[in-house]
Amino acid sequence: MSLHAGEDGSRFAGEARRGVTVWFTGLSSAGKTTLGRAVEAQLRARGCRVEILDGDEIRQRLCRGLGFSKEDRDENIRRIGYVAEVLTRHEVIVLVAAISPYAAVRREVRERIGAFVEVYVNAPVQICEQRDVKGLYKKARAGEIQGFTGIDDPYEPPTAPEIECRTDRETVEESASKIVRCLEEGLWLAGAR
Ligand code: ADP
Repeated sequence: MSLHAGEDGSRFAGEARRGVTVWFTGLSSAGKTTLGRAVEAQLRARGCRVEILDGDEIRQRLCRGLGFSKEDRDENIRRIGYVAEVLTRHEVIVLVAAISPYAAVRREVRERIGAFVEVYVNAPVQICEQRDVKGLYKKARAGEIQGFTGIDDPYEPPTAPEIECRTDRETVEESASKIVRCLEEGLWLAGAR
């Protein structure tokens, strides 16, 4: 689709704003929320329409009541995926930060949404456990939480993500800039300043 100058409210002739879902997957404390916020800030500064869907927040609201069985985790991802799909259709850049441990349901939401960039937020589990931002690894080790991803529940790493961020080796700024660059190269930022 090509719009004429000003038709879509953008300042760029011939460029339509496009929506895309940027899906951050990785272990707890790998850096999904941190990178999501950093990318959000960069995109907002460029005048993009951005929405962040954070797994922890969503579980308090849209997915309240869902647990951590495989079935509930998949349902959680499907609901987040649905919201991301609707927003993407309305030309928003959607940043999803959710562990999303199972490859099949990630593939399912990718296929539904279409405009989809997968970011594998990768740090070794030992590093994530050292960070333990929410103190959940400690609880899992103490047996207070069962079925914790990376400890006693599976995480299926993406095999062909568009972007991989090794957050134990890169700074937040390096990882965030890499993601924004990838969006630029994929022309997802057309129409933005
Ligand atoms: P998640 O959302 O994956 O559970 P968080 O973003 O809440 O993880 O926490 C990641 C932690 O790792 C933060 O304390 C962050 O400051 C730290 N960190 C160190 N290096 C990086 C990096 N390159 N990218 C993201 N986070 C990093």
